[in-house]
Amino acid sequence: MEISKKNILEKIFDLIAHSKSPDHTLDQIVKCVAKVYQIDVCSVYVFDSNKEELVLRATVGLSKKSVDSISMKANEGLTGLVLETLKPVFVINPSDHLRYKYYKKSGEEIYHTFLGLPLLYHQNLLGVMVLQTIDKNTINKKDIPLFNNLSTQIAATVAYTGILEDLKTKKSQKKKGSVKSAADREKKYVRGISVGSGFTKGHAYYLKNSIGFDQIEDNFSLCSDTEINRLETAFSKSADDIKKVIKKTIESSGEENAILEAHLMYLRDRSFKNRIINIIKSGKSAEIALKTEVLSKIEFFESLDDPYLRDRGADIEDIGKRILGHLMNFSGTDIKNFGSDTILMAADLSPVDLINLNQSNLKGIVLSKGGKTSHTVILAKSFEIPIIIGARKLLKVIKHNDFIIMDASSGIIFRNPPTEIQNEYIRIEKENVKKIDRLNIIKDKPAITKDGYLVQLGSNIGLISDIDLMKKYGADFIGLYRTEFPFLIRKSFPTENEQFDLYKRVLEKADGKEMTIRTIDVGGDKLLPYFDYQKEENPFLGWRSVRISLDMDDIFREQIRAILRASFYGNLRILFPMITTVSELKKIIEILDQEKEKLKKDRIKFNESIDIGIMVEVPAAALILNHLIDHVDFVSIGTNDLVQYLLAVDRNNEKVAHLYTPFHPAVLSTIYKIVLTCNKNNKPVCICGEAATNNYLIALFIAMGVKLFSMNSVSVPYVKDFILKIERKKIEPVLKKVLTMDTSEEISEYLAKVILPDQTKFI
Ligand code: PEP
Ligand code: MG
Repeated sequence: MEISKKNILEKIFDLIAHSKSPDHTLDQIVKCVAKVYQIDVCSVYVFDSNKEELVLRATVGLSKKSVDSISMKANEGLTGLVLETLKPVFVINPSDHLRYKYYKKSGEEIYHTFLGLPLLYHQNLLGVMVLQTIDKNTINKKDIPLFNNLSTQIAATVAYTGILEDLKTKKSQKKKGSVKSAADREKKYVRGISVGSGFTKGHAYYLKNSIGFDQIEDNFSLCSDTEINRLETAFSKSADDIKKVIKKTIESSGEENAILEAHLMYLRDRSFKNRIINIIKSGKSAEIALKTEVLSKIEFFESLDDPYLRDRGADIEDIGKRILGHLMNFSGTDIKNFGSDTILMAADLSPVDLINLNQSNLKGIVLSKGGKTSHTVILAKSFEIPIIIGARKLLKVIKHNDFIIMDASSGIIFRNPPTEIQNEYIRIEKENVKKIDRLNIIKDKPAITKDGYLVQLGSNIGLISDIDLMKKYGADFIGLYRTEFPFLIRKSFPTENEQFDLYKRVLEKADGKEMTIRTIDVGGDKLLPYFDYQKEENPFLGWRSVRISLDMDDIFREQIRAILRASFYGNLRILFPMITTVSELKKIIEILDQEKEKLKKDRIKFNESIDIGIMVEVPAAALILNHLIDHVDFVSIGTNDLVQYLLAVDRNNEKVAHLYTPFHPAVLSTIYKIVLTCNKNNKPVCICGEAATNNYLIALFIAMGVKLFSMNSVSVPYVKDFILKIERKKIEPVLKKVLTMDTSEEISEYLAKVILPDQTKFI
């Protein structure tokens, strides 16, 4: 059969069907692709999951001697980048790229384009196909979807026939002469969701009590005796813990001791332990057996009518978690001071916990749950701590105290990485320093597009230390001061005077730069530790933000007075979050006016014509903006909440994180309408949430007519660097086209084709 672009897949299938050997077939496939597309180099690397590395198995164009002798880990070279990101990587002049790694034996230095494509089958990486050409124009960005499609089809076909599996087995048997042990097969890395950038290293520290039974996945054990021994040890260590605490608190002999005695009783209860042992004997691990028994006990207690007995479910959960902690080796005390560089591991972390744990030795955070725009993520960014969320397999792979390198840009966490990976990160660290030096040069330049469209880049701040970051990264203004953060770190509500002192200090530290202060937005995922909340089914749809402020009139008025008084000392504007109705806004303005009058009467100085604004972050506000706009001086678009409320996707829930996207057509068209309404009414509009750090989106917002962006300070230079490279008039037709598209995938793919490819990361 004559091969052409049309029938190449048919040909590949034919080759596989008549395969003499996997090696031969793979050889034929690369020849076939190279010939049909006139590619100079076509190579296939097979992924060896035991060693977590790619091995060159077939090539046209590279030296045949390099087959089997070139291998690379994630983080090594551009091919490793495909493994790391699981996405196509297209680079012109690869030898100039930060991640380029030259293999002496390969003879690849003459090639001017590099396209690496993951061979993915049902989310499993089978290998990587690499295409390289001498001529810069043989492959271009537009061809990526075509080759991606081809690689998907090849992956499916080879997976179907088991061809790559054959190659892997053959190779490992050839080298070792034996099948690897279960211990060798232990995973060396775990993947989570990237929500920022940076990488860091340190020892894994599991936060006690943050890991619950929902994190324990079903698994089997090979040796019941070992599991029973582990369980016995965990029981006796748990009992020792409790006895120690009882000893300490013996003087107080209050209710606390009674609870602890009850916990001790469970640990001495043979029938409780025996039921767990029986489950272990059915082939389960100690963790799963414990989980099964504890959950069934909780269920039993919860079904009882007696409220006292119902509460015993909580005791059983507590004691279960303590035993679990010992089984998993992370039940040390919850230290507040980390002795050495530490990467904190937890299922989830509240903003309050993060504030309490923040210290110089806290180098990184990995959460198995978490949402992309949760306030913990926002805070971690403002503390400049790399964070990864949604690492679901965390517990399975990383053990307490393991040495970790975490790469927040790609979402990978390496466990006890070998020296090659460590060295690779040392190299990247050096490159990053160069990049930061380059960004420093533009720090004091205005953010202006190549065709002269000037925008202002602001910082989102929360704590007073954020002002230093704002200065370090050269922001033009403070677009959002989240005042709830100082509320979160206190033991009680700050008084009016305490707030006034704080706001005045922040304002003075801002050196005359405009600052937009937002009244407290608690509730949702920001619960004040000293505040008695009723548990809510849907906290983000419940008692949150300005709804709390309006219900707690005294506290709201105190904050408003503190803000008004501080307004005398700098360039301050006041912003109200989560506005949903006109009557809410009118009520707020009435309170503001009343407080102004009182201050005037008391002859206290303040800025009488302070600008007031609203956050448009609830879809209702976007829809009735023309009714709200006359009452305000400016508008701030809170994209984090707008996305969650428009798409009905909890911003904190990793299970639906893939649905949380600002690229959804509903989000983009809503933002566009808000911007048009503001511009028509001459009211300044600022994009405020995390979407303001995504360059594709910034390009679209600029085309929409946005001139103000506010973001975490670290992102400011990256965003500025991008803005300096683009032309607004070229993005206007892109926006037009995007607004006609149906899906977020279509929009992102299209933007990836038309906007600078290397400038698109969420920072
Ligand atoms: C937003 O919702 O986009 C926003 C900026 O506010 P927060 O993240 O504090 O809810
Ligand atoms: Mg919000």
